[in-house]
Amino acid sequence: MEFVRSISEKALGILYPPRCPICDEITETGGGICPACAGKVREIGEPVCKKCGKPLENERREYCPDCAAKKHLYTQGKAVFVYGEGIPKSLYRFKYANKREYAEYYADRAAKRYGAWLKSRGAEVLVPVPMYFWKKRLRGYNQAEIFARALGRNTGIPVDTRLVKRVRNTAPQKTLNDVQRKRNLKNAFQLVPDIVEYTQIVLVDDIYTTGSTMDAVAGVLLDAGVKNIYYICISIGTGY
Ligand SMILES: [Zn+2]
Ligand SMILES: [Zn+2]
Repeated sequence: MEFVRSISEKALGILYPPRCPICDEITETGGGICPACAGKVREIGEPVCKKCGKPLENERREYCPDCAAKKHLYTQGKAVFVYGEGIPKSLYRFKYANKREYAEYYADRAAKRYGAWLKSRGAEVLVPVPMYFWKKRLRGYNQAEIFARALGRNTGIPVDTRLVKRVRNTAPQKTLNDVQRKRNLKNAFQLVPDIVEYTQIVLVDDIYTTGSTMDAVAGVLLDAGVKNIYYICISIGTGY
């Protein structure tokens, strides 16, 4: 069995040689980010906003201007990469060009950076932000779910994709302003089971912009009696 597996893995390696998740060139090192791209990603480090996890320019502040001004429903969130340089194109291919294998790299970095944080929060389950079923059928997959599964394998935290569903197809958030975003997401998510037995849930998504999606899903879960909603995103913008 081992033998068969190693043969088939080798065959797969020839058919699909590992590619750098940033530039998509074939890597000689057998996976991960290529040396040329190492300087093209910025992982997020302290100081960060204690609420949303955005990098802070002024380290004496606790919150970013956005979180200082408005109340979020989630308890706290973290992101792995600054949305800039090589990341936007990488995420675009991950989302729209079937580059699902990039999730391994994102999840590896997320687990290294936030594994201890997840443990300290008592994270019971990872819940990918759901996609409207028709959209998922057209695209073939939900990128948040692919990332959540990879993160689950890296951290040992189970993944639950049946807790919340998206019941409306919403306009892409990036085209809307803050008020429109909220209206767009009103009643977009619905709880699936009658009872939620988790108390500490971690939502998982690819990009965090204003937090309105996270708040919309968090609202549904808080109404169901969940105590804390956290999140992990692959990337977060630095603008406010
Ligand atoms: Zn590269
Ligand atoms: Zn913030």
